[in-house]
Amino acid sequence: MSQRPYIVGNWKMHGTRAMLTEARAIDRGAERLLKAEVAIAPPTTLIHAARREAGLIGIGAQDCHAAEGGPHTGDISAAMIRDAGADFVIVGHSERRQDHGESNTDVRAKAAAAIAAGLTVIVCVGETGAERDAGQAEAVVGAQMEGSLPAGEGVAERITVAYEPVWAIGTGRVPSIDDIAAMHRSIRDKLVALYGEAGAGVRILYGGSVKPDNAAEILSVKDVGGALVGGASLTAESFLGIVVAAAEAAST
Ligand code: PEP
Repeated sequence: MSQRPYIVGNWKMHGTRAMLTEARAIDRGAERLLKAEVAIAPPTTLIHAARREAGLIGIGAQDCHAAEGGPHTGDISAAMIRDAGADFVIVGHSERRQDHGESNTDVRAKAAAAIAAGLTVIVCVGETGAERDAGQAEAVVGAQMEGSLPAGEGVAERITVAYEPVWAIGTGRVPSIDDIAAMHRSIRDKLVALYGEAGAGVRILYGGSVKPDNAAEILSVKDVGGALVGGASLTAESFLGIVVAAAEAAST
């Protein structure tokens, strides 16, 4: 792996201030594991406090609104997220696409807004189980990328793509290593088609039931530049187990 593996915890709608002890412990652990780049995306309510507790790791949000401001009750702009102390935002997670009906166009607008506000962006893509069974996984993910990734000078440098098969999220099911390799190769080809040479440097994360005991194998696959982790990021113990695997994969 040429870049440091990027291990990102997505806390989803979990966590009150009591969970800041986990953020602090993750930060302390990451200090010893500099071969991996570590970040967490806590709920928005914890971003500011997590930034104060954890000085080394990246802190991000799980969504942002596409507008700079205005009459959008309950929404949060990218600039507000940055002001709260975040460095990045996750957009297009399948739970947002499903729960909030977010389209590729919406995701692209959010990603563009985040970049304009000075954040980096993790754009999520991934097929459903039915789409994989129908042999459409690569076509679906390719179309999501075409629709969700913003274009423009310097954009590729601020984007990470997370491949998260919907059927693997929170289920304990993981694609075969061959399938992960094939999909990441296909995503890389699409990134180069979209961004030219800069597309070769975009990090691609795998997400979906990553745990300390399967992380090393997944992270050793070509073009897997890290992991987006849900359930296993909620305690420092399991998340740091994945970070250790990533740091070891980076040393080999
Ligand atoms: C996620 O929701 O981004 C995710 C990968 O979840 P889990 O690790 O729990 O499958």
